[in-house]
Amino acid sequence: MARDSILRIEGRIANHDRVFDGAIEIDTVTGLITHVGECTGKTDLDTAGCIVFPGFGDLHIHARDDVSGTQRYKEDFSTISAASIHGGVTHVADMPNNPVAPVDDARYAEKEKLTTASAVHVTLYAGIGPDTSPLARHVPYKAFMGPSVGDLFFASQQQLENVIANYRGKNVSFHCEDPEILRDSKGAPTHEQRRPARAEITATAFALYLIEKYELIGKLCHYSTGEGLKLIAEAKSRGVRVTAEATPHHLFFDDTMLTDENRLLLQMNPPLRSPADRLALIEALRSGLVDYIATDHAPHTLEEKATGVSGVPLLDTYGAFATWLMSRHSFTAQDIARVCAYNPGCFVKEFMPAAFGEGYGVIGPEYVGSLTVLDLNTPWPVRREEMKTKCAWSPFEGFTFPGRVRHTILQGSVYGTV
Ligand SMILES: [Zn+2]
Repeated sequence: MARDSILRIEGRIANHDRVFDGAIEIDTVTGLITHVGECTGKTDLDTAGCIVFPGFGDLHIHARDDVSGTQRYKEDFSTISAASIHGGVTHVADMPNNPVAPVDDARYAEKEKLTTASAVHVTLYAGIGPDTSPLARHVPYKAFMGPSVGDLFFASQQQLENVIANYRGKNVSFHCEDPEILRDSKGAPTHEQRRPARAEITATAFALYLIEKYELIGKLCHYSTGEGLKLIAEAKSRGVRVTAEATPHHLFFDDTMLTDENRLLLQMNPPLRSPADRLALIEALRSGLVDYIATDHAPHTLEEKATGVSGVPLLDTYGAFATWLMSRHSFTAQDIARVCAYNPGCFVKEFMPAAFGEGYGVIGPEYVGSLTVLDLNTPWPVRREEMKTKCAWSPFEGFTFPGRVRHTILQGSVYGTV
């Protein structure tokens, strides 16, 4: 190293607003970037053939870890950290549908203690359920509108509104599937038909109404329908404070790809949609209508998947998936910096401890010195035995991504060098 406590990295750098050749200096004691300047030929890390991004952030994961410990057989905060680093993800936000759900200050603090097992920074959502009220501390919230995995959900729109009325002005993420339409569709033959597109579209309209009426900072999770995107566009154009996530699975797979062999493995909520929905989602992500790539990482075991449990594990492949968007769908490095780093960084900034400076999402002075280095030219075949998630499989097994994660840097410490 050039100086004891400085990590110096030169290379091709991509922020959301520009791409340039430069040098980044990170103070390994504070973990913050101290300087971004000209290249001089002195670097502590070889980044040839790579692009250096601000550390990627995944705003929607299920680490499944809580004080009950009953789901640690499939993931915990230490394995979620390993899978994140493997996937180039430098901070995550964890969902609250645990057996002991973080729905009040005491339970939130208990769960937060467990996150120290993760080298990757973890932001926790607090749950909103039929009997909850806001926490004393400033946290993001998650509302499951209808039943999915766990017990935090509502039976009707009216029940949800009665509770949301107490959360005025808060940061609330919504899982948009209308409970009454799900109930009416229960007898349909396939998972896709039991959770139809209109369940998401109806719930989206209602979530947008709640966000506007109660002046929430709203986020719509794992968005999947082209028709619903129009409602989001219309709301955004009226100045409603709403953002939206898209998952790798809804961007990569559609319902025409389902077979008898993969149908249970590729079961998730909301389900895979049509090719037209998938392409609309890709365009919305590129245009800025959809704001984040968030995985909805759901680490269920293969035995559980065989019984029809919904959700797929996607943290290990987060960075490689970004190289697919660049190669297959012509996303620019700036597009990737925006949807994988800048927008997620903006979302979590208000919940960050003061020691995190300007927070995540930009390569610039006083921002967190966490970086994701993508090698765009080394294809990466996804193999089960390489996965770091404890559930030990990937929906991308057998697929070769066009590039891969070369290094993940967390607050000035280099991980995952290959
Ligand atoms: Zn989820």
